[in-house]
Amino acid sequence: SFKAILVSRDADKKQSVTVEEMTEADLMDGDVTVAVEATTINYKDGLAITGKAPVVRRWPLVPGIDFAGTVLSSDHPDWRKGDRVVLNGWGVGETHYGAFAGRARVNGDWLVPLPEGMSAHDAMAIGTAGYTAMLCVMALERHGITPDRGPVVVTGAAGGVGSVAVALLSGLGYHVVASTGRSAESGYLAELGAAEVIAREELSQPGKPLGKERWAGGVDTVGSATLANVLSMTAYGGAVAACGLAGGMDLPATVAPFILRGVSLLGVDSVMAPKKIRLEAWRRIGADLDPAKLAALSTTIGFDGIVEAAHAIVDGKVRGRIVVDM
Ligand code: NAP
Repeated sequence: SFKAILVSRDADKKQSVTVEEMTEADLMDGDVTVAVEATTINYKDGLAITGKAPVVRRWPLVPGIDFAGTVLSSDHPDWRKGDRVVLNGWGVGETHYGAFAGRARVNGDWLVPLPEGMSAHDAMAIGTAGYTAMLCVMALERHGITPDRGPVVVTGAAGGVGSVAVALLSGLGYHVVASTGRSAESGYLAELGAAEVIAREELSQPGKPLGKERWAGGVDTVGSATLANVLSMTAYGGAVAACGLAGGMDLPATVAPFILRGVSLLGVDSVMAPKKIRLEAWRRIGADLDPAKLAALSTTIGFDGIVEAAHAIVDGKVRGRIVVDM
C-alpha cells in the first residue's frame, strides 16, 4: 500500500482533505502504472487543495498535476517496466487521480521520457511551471522576439513560472525586467539573471491604453490589469506570452496595443499541449536551463508538507519551485 492525499466533498459541497492508505486497486483506469518518485506544488495544486477555484472536477480526487517516476507495469507499446517518465497535465490532478500518491496509473500517451541525465527531483524542480515557462519562451521565439529586439518583462517573477522564465530568458541572453510584489526577493531575482527588478504596483494599477514602450515582449503569469499594462508598454511589433491568472482572470485592456503598435498576445497552455511540443520543451529545458539556477530556485519538502505548501502557494508566499520528494 501507499499514502495518498484525497480531496473529498460532502453533500453540502464542503471540501475536506485527508491522507489515505491506498492500494493499486484504488487507482483509476490506465495502461501504465508508475512509482511516483517526485512531484511538486503548482499554483493549480494549491487551488485544488484549498478549494479556492474549481480545479477538481471529479470527487473524490487525488490532486497533483505532475510527477516524475519509474514505470512499474505497462500495457502501452511505448513503455516498459523500469522506464523513467515525466507527466504534466492532461487532466491528471483535475479529473484523473494525480501525483500526490505513491503510485499513479495513467494513459501511456500522456507520458514523456525523463530527459537523459535528468533526475526525477530536477524534473519536478522544473515541473509544469518550468515547462510552461519554456512554452512561453518558445512562443516568443516563434514570434521573432530575439534578445537584440530589446528587454523582456516577466511578471510574478518570484513565483514558479516566473522564476524559471527569468532563468531561461537571461540564460538565452535577454535583458530581463522582473516584476515582483516581494522587493525582498530582488537579490534572488538578480541571482537568477534579472537585469532589473520593478515593483508589482508599477503594473497592477489600471493604466493608460498605450504607455511608454518599455519592452519588446514578456511572459505574464498574473493576468488582469497587469497583463493589460504589460501590453500597453510593449514596443512596436512586440509580443507577450500569457499563461497565468495569479492576479485575476479578467483582462481590462483596450485594443490600442494591437491595432496601433501591432503587438501580439500569445496564449500558452501546458495542459493539452501536443506531445511534439512537450518533447521539444523538455529538450530545450535540458539544454538551456542552468542547473545552478535550478538549484537556486527550488526547495524540497516531503509528502507530509504538501498541504501546508498548497496553502502557501495560493497566498503568494512560495518563492520559486517546491519539489516533493516521495
Ligand atoms: P506561483 O508560484 O504562485 O507564482 C505566481 C506569482 O504571481 C506569485 O509568486 C507572485 O509573484 C505573483 N502574484 C500572486 N498573487 C498576485 C496578485 N494578486 N497580483 C499580482 N501578482 C501576484 O504560481 P505558478 O505555479 O508559478 O503559476 C503562475 C500562474 O501561471 C498561475 O496563475 C497558474 O495557474 C498559471 N499556470 C498556467 C499554466 C498554463 O498551462 N497556462 C501552467 C502553469 C501555471 P511575486 O511575489 O513575484 O509578485
